[in-house]
Amino acid sequence: MSFEVTATDGAARAGIIRTVHGEVRTPAFMPVGTKGTVKSLDPDELRTVGSQIVLGNTYHLHFRPGDDVIAELGGLHEFSGWDGPILTDSGGFQVFSLRDTLLEVDDDGVTFRSVYDGAPARFTPETVAAIQRNLGSDIAMCLDICPPAGVERAELEQAVRRTTLWARRQRDAERAPGQLLFGIAQGAADDELRRRSIEEIAALGFDGHALGGLAVGESRDEMFEATAWAAPLLPAERPRYFMGIGDAEGILRVIEAGIDMFDCVLPTRTARTGSALTATGRLNLRNARFARDPRPLEEGCTCPACARFSRAYVRHLINQEELLGLRLLSLHNLTFLLELTAGARAAIERGALAAYTAERLARLADGPLEDPWHS
Ligand SMILES: [Zn+2]
Repeated sequence: MSFEVTATDGAARAGIIRTVHGEVRTPAFMPVGTKGTVKSLDPDELRTVGSQIVLGNTYHLHFRPGDDVIAELGGLHEFSGWDGPILTDSGGFQVFSLRDTLLEVDDDGVTFRSVYDGAPARFTPETVAAIQRNLGSDIAMCLDICPPAGVERAELEQAVRRTTLWARRQRDAERAPGQLLFGIAQGAADDELRRRSIEEIAALGFDGHALGGLAVGESRDEMFEATAWAAPLLPAERPRYFMGIGDAEGILRVIEAGIDMFDCVLPTRTARTGSALTATGRLNLRNARFARDPRPLEEGCTCPACARFSRAYVRHLINQEELLGLRLLSLHNLTFLLELTAGARAAIERGALAAYTAERLARLADGPLEDPWHS
């Protein structure tokens, strides 16, 4: 058994996922290392701020530098220097979200143009299994079809049907030694299709299950509502993964619904815009009011940025496009989300998640919000 639930609080759970490269204590936020790096940070820094598992991107690594190159150099752990657990997505999200590069979808797979050079390429359940085997990730994901929000119901139904078809084939494909495989349920916020997808995927017997096809452009209320009823339908004895959420409110809401793991580029993407995530909202360091501010990004934060540097200094670095500014904001933002998640885990263990969530949301709402994040 690769997953153990160690505490529950309402629908929420705390647990441990065991992988070939170590344990992941859940709920867990997974930083995204799209191209084999969490932008601007090295593996030691990822460890220092509390990362347990890192996400790698099948689509991008397949094209650059090539999963065959990575395999030859010992796999993604060896190649990237991160020796902890790695989850790789299937590449399906990139293929289906870059809609103008799509050439053809049929029951066998999907043909598309690479974003790198426009050359035609094809993904099938078997090819993405082979790529992820080459990468040697600890958790591989099934190829699925993730339509954007608001498509016709017939298209959604077709996506659900093919996602199941492909999941069955990928389940039977060869994997890296010890590699776990997660199935993905689609169906957007459509009650009937989402239930059907969960039932079909769960019946295939994966090591874990994901809710895909949410946080893709529907309203936040719709997303939270669908998650609240759909997450508990995923098998309780396996990890549940919500794909693509990472703002503070979103994290708290999906944990509350019984989700164990989630990923987002938010901490590093926010850093690139010159903003810091804090308990009371987002700080845009470009704002002139920080020019002479000697305080750390956030009082009490344990991150390497807050331990030594002032808002005024970080603002200076950002304004001058100094690389250190990006790194410090990335370290801080990652720390913020990892600590928020660790706090939720601790709250679940003492049966106090509702109070923790209410307190965190109240501080977010009361804070001097500027440029608040709404995905
Ligand atoms: Zn900090």
